[in-house]
Amino acid sequence: MPGSMVAALLHWCVLILILSCNTMGYNTLTPDEERVILHKGTEMPGSGTYYRNKDDGLYLCRRCDAPLFNSSDKFDSGSGWPSFDDAITGAVRQIPDADGRRTEIVCANCGAHLGHVFFKEGLTGKNVRHCVNSLSLSFLPKKTAEAVAQKAIFAGGCFWGVEYHFTQLNGVLSVTSGYTGGVVDHPTYKQVCSGKTGHAEAVEITFDPALVSYETLAKLFFEIHDPTQVNRQGPDIGTQYRSAIYYADGGQKKVAEKLIGELNSKGYHVVTQVEQAGRFWDAEPYHQDYYAKTGHQPYCHIYQKRF
Ligand SMILES: [Zn+2]
Repeated sequence: MPGSMVAALLHWCVLILILSCNTMGYNTLTPDEERVILHKGTEMPGSGTYYRNKDDGLYLCRRCDAPLFNSSDKFDSGSGWPSFDDAITGAVRQIPDADGRRTEIVCANCGAHLGHVFFKEGLTGKNVRHCVNSLSLSFLPKKTAEAVAQKAIFAGGCFWGVEYHFTQLNGVLSVTSGYTGGVVDHPTYKQVCSGKTGHAEAVEITFDPALVSYETLAKLFFEIHDPTQVNRQGPDIGTQYRSAIYYADGGQKKVAEKLIGELNSKGYHVVTQVEQAGRFWDAEPYHQDYYAKTGHQPYCHIYQKRF
């Protein structure tokens, strides 16, 4: 193929790629944002909107709205750029910088350039600094997030693995492991493990319905556990490991029943209980973010496509 034809073909491929990116619902960027986000530029230190922002809330990817950083992890590094000593699990990807020295950070969802990450500078206890351009971010104040956020509760075996998978999903603001569906107040892990309190190990998800639908959450739930197993998931056996959806309203109930119907029509014998949500009790702190803390992979929650 002549060189000019190759060039023309390449040109079209790039155009199609750009067009398909736009149709994927990314935000329109200003020329300054494009320079930083698409062309890996850097804003002038001290010039960014969020450098001195101390408000409570979530920092989202400017391009795709994925939640990236919590305000609780922001600190003043004196660098002139917003600095975070932690990122939301799975939200930020580290890649070697083209300069061969630094580590670049990009949005794990859309690849937007964010800035760089530095280690062992002794600035905070975690000894990490995500140095981020304000132009790569947008800010969702906590009050606004709480006003629009919705909750979903799912029980699908050991909560460590269920929490792990939902934390990775775009639009999920937080995931808490806990207990629900039982008869004892303030249950402990030991009590729940005895099977006598009636609780199921469950996760409570706070999500932004503008970014992720309840149906997407419920589909993921059915694909990360086996909804045909009665009172067990793999090696974990007992009523506390039952499969259940605890719906917050009629809309969630309808979605749950519709998806169960779809799975049954595909030949699965779904045993997932669908019940109205009751009180959710947070599990002990050592159960929260278990896999992120330990660096292990879930042993009994492997994603399997069912829809
Ligand atoms: Zn993004």
